[in-house]
Amino acid sequence: MLIKEDLQAFVQEKLGDYLFVVVSNRQPYEHVYKKGKIECQRPSGGVITALDPVMQACHGLWIAASSGEADHRVTDRFNKIEVPADSPAYSLKRVWLTKPEVEGYYYGYSNDALWPLCHTAFQRPVFNQEDWQHYTNVNQKFAKAVMDEVGEAKAFIWIQDYHFCLLPKLLKDMAAANQLIIAHFWHIPWPSYEAFRICPQKDEILEGMLANDMIGFHTHYHCNNFIEVVDRQLESKIDRERFSVIRHDHETLIRPYPISVDFEEINRKVQQNDFKNMEGELIEEFHLDNYRLLLGVDRIDYTKGIPERLDAIDRLLEKHPELKEKIIFLQLGVLSRIHIAKYKALNDEINALVEKINWKHSTDGWSPVIFIRGNISSAKLQLLYRMAQVCIVSALHDGMNLVAKEFVSAHYDEDGVLVLSQFAGSARELAEAVLINPYDSEQFSDSIYQALTMPEEERRKRMVKMRQTVHENNIYRWAGKFISGLLKIEFKEQEVAV
Ligand code: UDP
Repeated sequence: MLIKEDLQAFVQEKLGDYLFVVVSNRQPYEHVYKKGKIECQRPSGGVITALDPVMQACHGLWIAASSGEADHRVTDRFNKIEVPADSPAYSLKRVWLTKPEVEGYYYGYSNDALWPLCHTAFQRPVFNQEDWQHYTNVNQKFAKAVMDEVGEAKAFIWIQDYHFCLLPKLLKDMAAANQLIIAHFWHIPWPSYEAFRICPQKDEILEGMLANDMIGFHTHYHCNNFIEVVDRQLESKIDRERFSVIRHDHETLIRPYPISVDFEEINRKVQQNDFKNMEGELIEEFHLDNYRLLLGVDRIDYTKGIPERLDAIDRLLEKHPELKEKIIFLQLGVLSRIHIAKYKALNDEINALVEKINWKHSTDGWSPVIFIRGNISSAKLQLLYRMAQVCIVSALHDGMNLVAKEFVSAHYDEDGVLVLSQFAGSARELAEAVLINPYDSEQFSDSIYQALTMPEEERRKRMVKMRQTVHENNIYRWAGKFISGLLKIEFKEQEVAV
């Protein structure tokens, strides 16, 4: 196991002369107006959850798009601010995007073209030339923001996700030879060639990404898909032994690094005394007393299988009416990408389903489903994980899914059952979960029943094993392994055993 301090020492020792820069679309902290005052809040999403603790350990520079209406009020003339406010550990530089840029680059090309292209959730990608133009411009804008900071220094640039396929090449073209080491972590699945080849901009995307020195995916399966796509689409050499692609004499290593969470921190926080007091408040707030709690936590996204989950709850209560007045299914959902029509339609569909199921099964004073929209504090969320006897993750397709790992980290009582989609990356590591196919409503509802009736001994055995896995493979180990993979390129070291 690697802890925060180990990672810090490792990065300082190995990357001492290099500026450490992370680039992502979403920023880890945003500033908004609340009741006339400026407040700092943390947007939700896997990338932030995973990288904020890493950056706090490494003291680098994080470059991201602004998203809060008060962001500009708190940044300096270089658009930077030290974060987190209570104990500053690294710099955040904000890039300002115009409304048409946000529409074209973020809602358009990133989330209405690449997102459905990479997830097998049977949503048709929309490729729009104007969106692509904005995507290109925003990648250029970020390249300039990075080089403004880097100047002539040597830097290690760690790019996050599908918003920046063109950025690696733009940076390599702007920088001096050997000035930058660039690595990219792709947080979502990478599709098969059959799926990817419909993309009109596929050559530009691959060309941009192959300027990276390394590309990381969550699983071997996604690495293989990427290599197959390159092999069939571009003139290049695949080195199967080194697991790399060579194009125009430049080598890009392809590696699987399954991302994780800060196990220690969640495990420690959830045991603190003030959490115990909060438990009573939560029971009162959501009327949870005397019921067995089933929990779902997601961004409202069509890849997360939320309607399928509600159908399974409906089917469970049809088959097992004895569970009425015994269970509550609490779904937490932050609204996401609501300007895209498919997301709005999904939100409406979920509302209608919750209404239907509650109407169908409710009794005097009891309804089976509570749906809470909006951000709740991370303290409350972690406590709800701990209070839940069953957590349901039913993604139709997901690169990893951190909710599954957070639930496991919060259960220091070593009890609780995870019902997990076999199509989420985390299912490869958390094999002791009750694995489901979210498209199969019968099997899904039977699996929830299995979770609710599982003997305590078996629950504990499974939970202990899953906790070991997440404990050992925590977020610091992920970052350590990723960085050590890169050091191999620059310093020709062996990949360090971390
Ligand atoms: N999350 C949250 N509140 C919500 C829903 C999600 O704070 O209402 C957080 C959750 O705790 C997790 C992240 O958002 O850390 C979601 O990450 P995941 O990998 O599961 O999915 P993504 O949203 O990145 O697709």
